[in-house]
Amino acid sequence: MTSRPYVVLSAASSVDGYLDDPTDQRLLLSNAEDFDRVDEVRAGADAILVGATTLRRDNPRLLVNSEERRAARLARGLPAHPLKVTVTASGRLDPGLMFWRHGDKKLVLTVDSALERVRTDLDGLADVVSTGAELDWGRVLDELGRRHVKRLVVEGGGTVHTQLMAQDLADELHLAVAPLLVGQPGAPRFLGPADYPGGPTARMRLLETRATGDVVLLRYAPKERVPAAGPTRERDLHWMRKAIELAGKCPPSEGAYSVGAVIVGADGTELSHGYSREGDPHVHAEESALAKLPAGDPRLRTATIYTTLEPCSQRRSRPHPCAQLVLTSGLLRVVIAWREPSLFVDDCVGVERLRAAGVTVVELPELAVDAKAANTHLLGTG
Ligand SMILES: [Zn+2]
Repeated sequence: MTSRPYVVLSAASSVDGYLDDPTDQRLLLSNAEDFDRVDEVRAGADAILVGATTLRRDNPRLLVNSEERRAARLARGLPAHPLKVTVTASGRLDPGLMFWRHGDKKLVLTVDSALERVRTDLDGLADVVSTGAELDWGRVLDELGRRHVKRLVVEGGGTVHTQLMAQDLADELHLAVAPLLVGQPGAPRFLGPADYPGGPTARMRLLETRATGDVVLLRYAPKERVPAAGPTRERDLHWMRKAIELAGKCPPSEGAYSVGAVIVGADGTELSHGYSREGDPHVHAEESALAKLPAGDPRLRTATIYTTLEPCSQRRSRPHPCAQLVLTSGLLRVVIAWREPSLFVDDCVGVERLRAAGVTVVELPELAVDAKAANTHLLGTG
């Protein structure tokens, strides 16, 4: 059993998501510094792969251009250039392409029906291997693993990127975004329509952002995506019910509301919860839930706090009202079931204060009656 290589998809795209314009002339998206970064990425790879369409279209050499990097590879006992790999289902590969004329070893992966044609056309310019009746990316990676390729860099085109991404075979994505707008129908896109793992709400983990001049590199880990969808009404109702359960646990008080709060991360898991007077006669639910997380916890930026009652905007027992604590925490989304009436304070403006600071506040009036249930001794039953 050989292991498959670590797969890095590398692309430069315009701001509107194109790899090129539709003309014959190749559009240069990156700048010199970014091309040098790509050269470094190549030098760190055991193999570089491009699809046959890209070979035909761009006629690239796909070499390590820096002499120092080539020397460093040789010093490590590696060939000066990584193995160059292409894939073709049609088998149409011109032996006059630059790809064959430069660098070290080349490998073509094709299908049974095209195998003889490719071998004849290339006449010893490359090793030619079939992945079976159809082009099979799993078998492509297995074949590379057998050839001791531990790190593969895929430089396109869009179809190859799309297939590898849709089949969840990419370990890392390097996307350099250049400040250009292509805007033309027929131009090749970085990624096309596909049934991507996790669907459109799954979020890939960001590994790095790096600016080189006017080009920004984004590095993502596609396999480490956050599976859960963003907050929906159904999810909001689910977590609010949990907050209402917590409100029922509050030690009774004649001078304060009974409130429950739950903080839920972007991945749909609970980060913390709390309720009024939990272990402290003056603590509020939101305050109690937040106090269980480290200050500045980065997960709070994408989390939601569900609190049965509007966060307070003034209080006697503590210097900071809960609306302020929410803002300080970095939370950007608050879901409440009812607004604070003018019982203990004249006019609670928690919601207004949060919204003014850019926080999204969602109200779930359908659960207001349930959320008030723990407070009937204060509000009456009317
Ligand atoms: Zn409060």
